[in-house]
Amino acid sequence: MIEFKNVSKRYTTNQAIDDLNLTIPTGDFFVLVGPSGSGKTTTLKMLNRLIEPTDGNIYFNDKRIIDYDLKQLRLQMGYVLQNIALFPNLTIQENIAIQAESLGWPRKERIERARALLKQVDLDPDKYATRMPSELSGGEQQRVGIIRALAIKPKVVLMDEPFSALDPISRKQLQDLVLRLHQELSMTFVFVTHDMHEALRLGQHIAVMRLGHIQQVGTSQDIMEHPANDFVRGFFETEQAIQPETIQRLLDQGYGTATTATPSLPGTSTINELAAVLRTPTAAVVATESGSRELSTTDLLDYLATKEVD
Ligand code: ADP
Ligand code: MG
Repeated sequence: MIEFKNVSKRYTTNQAIDDLNLTIPTGDFFVLVGPSGSGKTTTLKMLNRLIEPTDGNIYFNDKRIIDYDLKQLRLQMGYVLQNIALFPNLTIQENIAIQAESLGWPRKERIERARALLKQVDLDPDKYATRMPSELSGGEQQRVGIIRALAIKPKVVLMDEPFSALDPISRKQLQDLVLRLHQELSMTFVFVTHDMHEALRLGQHIAVMRLGHIQQVGTSQDIMEHPANDFVRGFFETEQAIQPETIQRLLDQGYGTATTATPSLPGTSTINELAAVLRTPTAAVVATESGSRELSTTDLLDYLATKEVD
């Protein structure tokens, strides 16, 4: 478990984080979302002590992080950067194993680990292990950036806007990938994004930040259905560009399944109206010209994730 207790960070003139209190359960997929400058990166970097708080304490498994040996702490916290930052003059397997090498793992073990991780993210090791980073696409490079952070089996993985430079299709694929890795690996993921769609799709718990303050912590459902204040509501609504034909577009794109149940929503509902009736595990039944269809929260979030973000 990670706990922030009354944590503040002041840069010379700027209060970046103001009295932050936050609990991240062990094994969670936790997302920090907020506009640029809201303090997300500062919060993340305080966790691996790239930035030290001005006030307050952060606890990792009930021990203050300042009481850990810095090197030991960092080894438990893998870090995925926004810009992919692979070493251009090292092969892919050397990039993945670079931390293992600095820890003195034998070469054979390092290569085995790199190859196993490549396989886990659907990059054929026979093809990719000895390539150079410049021979990979942006999305492939970012896969390597992610598995590099996992190579020495950290307990926590910190990710700072890892997909923001990618096109929508690659972003969706990598979102699916981190969701799968999270299920397979039983590590705690702390993921930063400014994209509310991405947050809603990925987060088991989501903290919405603004100007160094938490506005709301909750599940996707909590935030969609019960936004805590006008900021959260506005952030969610302006980002989803409500259009009356949204439901029809969802259905046209193959989300949802046909059903004979009585419709609870007209086909012209907005995404917000749909979100309001969605209660997992029951789906909302929407009337369309060709009959009625069931839509679930997952359909909605998939749709939001693949939609182009302006
Ligand atoms: P985010 O990641 O949400 O965009 P940051 O944590 O990077 O936000 O920044 C939070 C606030 O702190 C912003 O107002 C930013 O300008 C400021 N800030 C960040 N780093 C520094 C720094 N090294 N010196 C001074 N101000 C900083
Ligand atoms: Mg940032």
